[in-house]
Amino acid sequence: NEGLGSWPARRARKTPHRTALIHHDTTSIHQDTALIEHGTALTYEGLYERTTRLAHALRARGVRRGDRIAYLGPNHPSYLETLFAAGTLGAVFVPLNTRLAGPEIAYQLIDSGAKALVYGAAFEGLVAGLPGNCDVRTYVEVGAEYDQLLASASGEAIDEPVMADDTCVIMYTSGTTGRPKGAMLTHGNLTWNAVNVLVDQDLIADERALVSAPLFHTAGLNMLTLPVLLKGGTCVLVEAFDPAATLDLVERHRITFMFGVPTMFEQVARQPRWAEADLSSLRMLSCGGSPVPTPLIAAYQERGLTFLQGYGMTEASPGVLFLDAEHAVTKAGSAGVPHFFSDVRVVRPGLAPNEVAGVGETGEIVVRGPHVMPGYWGLPDETAAVFSDGWFRSGDAARIDEDGYVTVVDRIKDMIISGGENVYPAEIEDRLLTHPGIAECAVIGVPDENWGEVPRAVVVPREGVQLDPDEVLASLTGHLAKYKIPKSVVLADELPRTASGKLLKSQVRKHYGTDS
Ligand code: AMP
Ligand code: MG
Repeated sequence: NEGLGSWPARRARKTPHRTALIHHDTTSIHQDTALIEHGTALTYEGLYERTTRLAHALRARGVRRGDRIAYLGPNHPSYLETLFAAGTLGAVFVPLNTRLAGPEIAYQLIDSGAKALVYGAAFEGLVAGLPGNCDVRTYVEVGAEYDQLLASASGEAIDEPVMADDTCVIMYTSGTTGRPKGAMLTHGNLTWNAVNVLVDQDLIADERALVSAPLFHTAGLNMLTLPVLLKGGTCVLVEAFDPAATLDLVERHRITFMFGVPTMFEQVARQPRWAEADLSSLRMLSCGGSPVPTPLIAAYQERGLTFLQGYGMTEASPGVLFLDAEHAVTKAGSAGVPHFFSDVRVVRPGLAPNEVAGVGETGEIVVRGPHVMPGYWGLPDETAAVFSDGWFRSGDAARIDEDGYVTVVDRIKDMIISGGENVYPAEIEDRLLTHPGIAECAVIGVPDENWGEVPRAVVVPREGVQLDPDEVLASLTGHLAKYKIPKSVVLADELPRTASGKLLKSQVRKHYGTDS
């Protein structure tokens, strides 16, 4: 069995009594210290038993090999139990972003054809409002229902053969056009990525990881949690990232390893206790998902901490480039060299992967390796469009130096990164165009102190229409996740276009991208 579903059994055989997971819910972070100290702990033996019981329960409710099981909820042991249970059955796990609006969640459930949905109690209302064309037949609410399900299920070992090339998860990622696409990641993809992290970051069995980045995103799961569980360390799961609680949790659990996007580390460094907090247990601070600002690196250096930096993408499970602590200063600004089992080239834009750009020349990053997805779920054309001779085209522009270090310089694709969440303008523009008063629009990213970038909408009103920017923004509420809703609206008479009518995004950025 080459599947992820076998990990809890293998760990239970090797290290049954070590703690796999500690869980803190949002209320316990803030309440009494006894709870903070202990949280709720689960050993590897316990994780194996719960996972097996859940797999039996899901099978009894009709879940079969290849079926999709979705999960909607904050970081919680049930997320990992569902992932491993799905893997045990050869079923496919589909994590959903809790920040999405109802219609966006419904789209992913319908597109993936999910048969089962495990969800947190806070999502009861959203789940009740799912449209009729959603194919989910088995609903399990985390809490009493979930616990009851486990208690009444068999704990007998399940031996379903699962191979490295079988799909393990479908993770949705937005795109430059239209709807989000489901990146299919195989058991092999996730395993090779975890091996890359173990090899390049020297993880040890005594690792204590703070998992406050969301597990529904690739990094929280694959750059932190899965590598630690593979090695037999402990993951402290926090339901929602809370900068004030982060320092307490680091001290109480003697955290060794954290992952975050730059925004998270920035918020932690702004805490009043930042200068006094005991950070002596921290060995690895891993930061990625967007460029790491130099002042942030300096602020952590003042506390004796160096970032491990990385570049990757959902489609690559996600680790691609990695900058170790040794080169953090000498190669500052670069995202490092490829992970051990990853191949990276910088190629001349628009050309075949063998047209490699010279040292210092800007080109597109292309990636190949056992961690790269086989394709997008149900989208052969979109899949073909992102692969070229077996290389995945990242849509990111970069330069490579004489030592092979890669610096990401720009995005070729039209994407905004706001607080670690990717925002694709096309999705917002599509929605804006349903507004009866809007003739044309363009969404761009503008710099923001807190979030790195935030979306801004430039809209052209229809002939004779008086547009109210606040009303335009209000019309998006409930249809798009909050982080996708523009922070400002600028009215324009027309948008810059080429003679053939193609929108010139770079011109829009130039005219409307600075503060108005
Ligand atoms: P996602 O699919 O959500 O993981 O987003 C992947 C994209 O995030 C990449 O294609 C890049 O555009 C961007 N990204 C990730 N890591 C970095 C980094 N270290 N520096 C710059 N951009 C990054
Ligand atoms: Mg993406």
